[in-house]
Amino acid sequence: MQVPAAVLTHLKKSWDAHLAELQELVRIPSVSADPAYKADVARAAQWLMARLQRAGLENIKLVPTKGNPAVVADWLHAGPKAKTLLVYGHYDVQPAKKADGWKYEPFEARVADGRIWGRGTTDDKGQLYCHLLAAEAWLKTTGKLPVNLKFVFEGEEEIGSLNYGDVLTNTKGALKADLLIVSDSPMHGEGQPALTHTLRGLDYFQVDVTGPKSDLHSGTFGGILWNPNEALVHMLAQLKDPKTGRVLVPGFYDDVVPATKAERARLATVAESDAALKKQTGVDALWGETGWTSYERIGVRPTLEINGIYGGYTGEGAKTVIPAHAHAKVSCRLVADQDPKTIAKLVQKHLTSLAKPGTKVKVTVLSAGSGVRADPDHPLVKAVERALEATWGKKPVLIPEGGSIPPVADMQKRLGVVPILCGFGNRDENMHAPEESFRLSSFEKGREACARIYGELGA
Ligand SMILES: [Zn+2]
Repeated sequence: MQVPAAVLTHLKKSWDAHLAELQELVRIPSVSADPAYKADVARAAQWLMARLQRAGLENIKLVPTKGNPAVVADWLHAGPKAKTLLVYGHYDVQPAKKADGWKYEPFEARVADGRIWGRGTTDDKGQLYCHLLAAEAWLKTTGKLPVNLKFVFEGEEEIGSLNYGDVLTNTKGALKADLLIVSDSPMHGEGQPALTHTLRGLDYFQVDVTGPKSDLHSGTFGGILWNPNEALVHMLAQLKDPKTGRVLVPGFYDDVVPATKAERARLATVAESDAALKKQTGVDALWGETGWTSYERIGVRPTLEINGIYGGYTGEGAKTVIPAHAHAKVSCRLVADQDPKTIAKLVQKHLTSLAKPGTKVKVTVLSAGSGVRADPDHPLVKAVERALEATWGKKPVLIPEGGSIPPVADMQKRLGVVPILCGFGNRDENMHAPEESFRLSSFEKGREACARIYGELGA
């Protein structure tokens, strides 16, 4: 369905008010990582509930979790044949202090140089607000929406969505939908709309190696037993092949479905060049799994990284010690075909089998989340694609995402939705860093894109 002109006119006419409201929302420092901001997190949730009410949404509720609540709302009068769309966003933000390198106060929400500056502007308040305003525009001008619409705004995305399962359990299936849209990601450069159809899963491990009952003098006892630091280093060295970059955990690749020729050809058309990746990382040579390009290694291949190693003496000067224990943090990025539980068992088994005599190895799984692969040719995804093309005048590109958003896989599994990531941010908008911003043009067009998405899904 074409979006009625009145809907777009309403958005244009309301621009000043919409921008002022987004500033108001950004000024609430809803930092989820720091308990000192608990009241502000609650205030942001209340602010959204009041705004959803004014927009004409119904069944507006706080869904409790063991942590911060989620805000849900819906409008379900599009008729029995209409599609149901679930929109996910998050109202919590990363911490920010001006001293970290901000030009303006991070919660001032200053408008300057064609952007709104502040923590949470692009991640994710500005993006979720596009959806809310688009729904309001339809309801205020036509009295209805062309789709059944459900909103879920999480309050703990920035601290790993650890309690998102509670949201799904406590809503008892009320979030079921045909399509899930997540607007919490970048476009493919300014003015180039993008749909992200894959996310990688994640397994995170704590590895503890223990040896002698206490730290030992390396003169008195050196040379007669396995030093836990050395045992750990030997074990970790057998996780990845230094020649091929392949993960050496037996069975690691068993379930990986290799990217097809067609997919690889398409990836090549949107890939960042090795030169660009070298510039971004500051290294003069890239390295990874043989047989795949750098962009493919991030987008469609699994990998394993050692995130931290510690043990023994690490202070000033010299201390001749054999440590009693040594530790590492290890994680795997997984593709959608890999089950994080299965992979976690394989990694645990492999590492434990590498234990050296006289040491004990404990591998604890700290977190496990599945990857996502959506069908880019699904008719509902095609509808979203048409809406983006109509808004920006350019066909959206399909891009893979190397990162992980565990709630997306959870919703895909538990609600049976087709997931697609449709973001309005940009990579230079400093998510999670000082000087976060959101282009005013993205906010303006984002609202329009959402209004068109609802229309296209109603077709
Ligand atoms: Zn986010």
